[in-house]
Amino acid sequence: MTQIAHADRAHALLAASAAHRWLICTPSPRLEETLPDTESEAAKKGTLAHEISELKLRKHFIEPIGPRKFAAALKKLKADPLYDPEMDTTTDAYLEYVQSVVHAFSSPPYIAIERRVDYSAYAPQGYGTSDCIIIGSRQLHVIDYKHGKGVPVDAEDNPQMKLYALGALKAYEMLYEIDTVQLAIFQPRVRDQPSEWTLSAAELRAWGESIKPVAAKAYAGEGEYAVGEHCGFCRAKEMCRARVETLLSVEQYVPMKPPLISWEEAAEALRRAEGIVSWYNSLKEAALAEALRGGDVPGWKAVEGRGSRQYTDMDAAFAHLQACGIDEALLYERKPLTPPAVEKVLGKKHYRELLEETGHVVSKSGAPTLVPVSDKRTAISDKIDPAAVFGGDSGA
Ligand code: SF4
Repeated sequence: MTQIAHADRAHALLAASAAHRWLICTPSPRLEETLPDTESEAAKKGTLAHEISELKLRKHFIEPIGPRKFAAALKKLKADPLYDPEMDTTTDAYLEYVQSVVHAFSSPPYIAIERRVDYSAYAPQGYGTSDCIIIGSRQLHVIDYKHGKGVPVDAEDNPQMKLYALGALKAYEMLYEIDTVQLAIFQPRVRDQPSEWTLSAAELRAWGESIKPVAAKAYAGEGEYAVGEHCGFCRAKEMCRARVETLLSVEQYVPMKPPLISWEEAAEALRRAEGIVSWYNSLKEAALAEALRGGDVPGWKAVEGRGSRQYTDMDAAFAHLQACGIDEALLYERKPLTPPAVEKVLGKKHYRELLEETGHVVSKSGAPTLVPVSDKRTAISDKIDPAAVFGGDSGA
């Protein structure tokens, strides 16, 4: 088996996963390069889920291995402290999706798993690893598994996927005729169905040509810093001067007259404050890390947080309590799992069949919450609509 530990893979300066950022803020890759690359726990979990999915897909499509060897390899991955049983169900669902794509071909297609793709013809020294490539019937499918559940990622016009597809076209154009390219992002913890998008190979190549000057600028570290939503995962997001100046700038504020601000002004203040709060929280974490490293953050210091009580040996402590006559029933609580926890254990499909479709679980609305108008949910209001109560004629 030729699996390379995902965490050990090198990353290009113009990484495909950061293309949505460097295509807008061209100096960002060179700035990020000067900063330490720390991987969050969520990212490490994503890497582990990718390794599990790679093992399953390889076994199924590339290198059939016996059940004992497969079980041993899976057991090794499951021994990782970051392993969560949900990874087994989400990667099974991913395997099912890839199977459905493969089975839609009239004859067996070519399949590559975790294939390194080179898109340096469009972005200097650009390369990456595509989770799954399928080619047949003049079609190229590029599929990406995403374990994250924070931000839904769409395949439509997705620059990461388009760069992988350009790399795949280059790798296989001598062997296969390809007219159509389908990009798919499978993000099982966010939605049941993958996000899919299709374009022609000619359109994809034209896009590749269009980004060449921008990619060259990004590689050289030239251009203007451009602040926006893409800053969220930038390594410089806490300390980037352009971002901090934009977040804290008061230029756009028209002096407000007392005593009350209008709802228009409140809406604008909320919008700006959201960015500031998220930046403030991550800046505080960065400053704490700096203080713990012994660095100087003038006016701030690191201290011990509030402590908590912990058993030195829980089994021994409970045995002691019971030996002292404390009833076991007082020491343990047996609680049923919540529906989301059961779903995590069973997987979405099984959970739905056993609980939702049988009426054992119904959905109740949550408490009202304020979100930007761009949110896809329907707006609600307590205001009584006469038309809804009295019919079309409100009697006016
Ligand atoms: S934080 Fe934003 S503006 Fe600053 S370098 Fe990163 S992407 Fe560019």
